[in-house]
Amino acid sequence: MLGDQSIHRIEPTVPFWQQEMAAAFTTVEQLLAFLDLDPALLPAAVKASTQFGFKVTRSYASHMKKGDPDDPLLRQVLPLADELNHVPGFGPDPVGDIEALAAPGVLHKYHGRALLITTGACAIHCRYCFRRAFPYSEARLPRQQESLALDYIAGDESIREVILSGGDPLMLADERLAGLIGRIAAIPHIERLRIHSRLPIVLPSRITSELIRCLLASRLSVVLVVHANHAAEFDRAVGNAAALLRQAGVPLFNQSVLLKGVNDRADTLIQLSETLFKHGIIPYYLHLLDKTTGTAHFDVPMERAVALYGVLLRRLPGYLVPRLVRERAGAAYKVPV
Ligand code: SF4
Repeated sequence: MLGDQSIHRIEPTVPFWQQEMAAAFTTVEQLLAFLDLDPALLPAAVKASTQFGFKVTRSYASHMKKGDPDDPLLRQVLPLADELNHVPGFGPDPVGDIEALAAPGVLHKYHGRALLITTGACAIHCRYCFRRAFPYSEARLPRQQESLALDYIAGDESIREVILSGGDPLMLADERLAGLIGRIAAIPHIERLRIHSRLPIVLPSRITSELIRCLLASRLSVVLVVHANHAAEFDRAVGNAAALLRQAGVPLFNQSVLLKGVNDRADTLIQLSETLFKHGIIPYYLHLLDKTTGTAHFDVPMERAVALYGVLLRRLPGYLVPRLVRERAGAAYKVPV
């Protein structure tokens, strides 16, 4: 939990979650000092963060173990010199997002679903992110072009579900989300709204009753897919955020990425599934790493991934085993491994 001194209250009208965002660590130096880590890690981190900026919320950092450079949560956000290596097979857009842009801010890859890139902003910058090189300035949904995106969706009656993605769509203010959801709900053939967000895990204060009211204000069925990779990402605040959503009737799912040095052990994955379930979140996908430039040091070889998955199948009930998948550019669905 954040101490009072961690956040300088800006003004009473600014929501608490936005105050927390304003207090997030935006330099590696701050995080290393907070965690009592060796400043020798700094030069490489500073260099690597010129490729993809550094950001982490204090609530997420508060789950990291002080003095441990191998902490699995720290590894997800700490820039390393490895990111600067050029590795064959790794490129800027391994999942073919640019190719799938159908209108400003609209990715249309799969039958019946269209995805809106609502914003380029996130609460933390995950070093393995498949959109770390994504040209958000050109490809996200600008407010002025919302109509073009919604016209595209309105013009294709096969689309039944709209996915709000980003960046992180819950970085948008409630008013903007409410307006956007209202306009989506006005398209008669849309039935479901899916939200992909890491905020319930890394900034649980974002889940407020006002936000939930705004998500549920329309006629659409709402599903929330969170993104957690390790059981240590859960604490009471994260649990409370999940409980608020659950009590409001929002189905909760989780997608994780299999990451070397973070969660590539069977016990870790089992503990994650059990923790998710304890909080009413269904383990949905375990993704193999998307081969994005700068992320090769997170890659878990296929053979090892399959062996780990075999252990999950043997040790967990079926409903706690996420689907092991790989996203392939141009494929009509996420490909089961
Ligand atoms: S929160 Fe999601 S979109 Fe944002 S950096 Fe992390 S993985 Fe990427």
